[in-house]
Amino acid sequence: MVTNGSRLKNLAISLLNTRTERDGQKKVGASQISNPCTKHLALALAGVEPEPSKYWLGGKVGTAIHSAIEAAIEHSDAEELVGARVEQKIVLGEIDGYGTVSSKPDLVLPAINHLVDWKTSTRAKTKKIQAWVDGTKQDAGTTYTMQKYIGQTQLYAWGVAQSGLQIDNISLVFINRDGTSDSDVLEYTFAYDESIAVALWNRLVVLWEELQNGVHPESYAGHPECFNCSVSGLL
Ligand code: SF4
Repeated sequence: MVTNGSRLKNLAISLLNTRTERDGQKKVGASQISNPCTKHLALALAGVEPEPSKYWLGGKVGTAIHSAIEAAIEHSDAEELVGARVEQKIVLGEIDGYGTVSSKPDLVLPAINHLVDWKTSTRAKTKKIQAWVDGTKQDAGTTYTMQKYIGQTQLYAWGVAQSGLQIDNISLVFINRDGTSDSDVLEYTFAYDESIAVALWNRLVVLWEELQNGVHPESYAGHPECFNCSVSGLL
């Protein structure tokens, strides 16, 4: 008799849901600072932990892809990778009363003054991202996503530049989780622009000051294009 099927399914789910160091991150980092939703950043600054998402599997697959790339980098002799920094902590700045704000960019390539961020995605989403990049169709949801990704990586580059390394360009490399071939890996490359990072940093500092002056984080409006809040009915 076949038994224990559902028990093993539950075991698989619980193993996949084992918390990682990344899950325990308490302070805000570049990915939250760049969030176009002020409410989200305010909640994160106030230390409010987001509810676990029921759409957790994509994130887990993404973490696994990051790990696979990191392992491959260790054994690669590609010339771009000479002196590469993988997931090395960088400091973005200090905020009075909050402390040091830091982040870990996926990959810094000092040999070519380049910063790379891996983004796992799906074919449906990268199709929209490609249209956004090409300028053929820029829907509000994809603009929200790209604004977040571009801001996040500009902040990384800013932190790296503050550590004394020059960054000229940034690449977002999208990998389709449901892909099958080379055409499921896409890139979008743009120039480092310090002013974007500084504007995001200044917004963070002002928000922190407002919270210290008694503004409640929930009083900020959520972002209409945020999938999380739209599906959980918070908006
Ligand atoms: S709208 Fe989205 S980004 Fe904003 S607080 Fe809600 S979940 Fe966070």
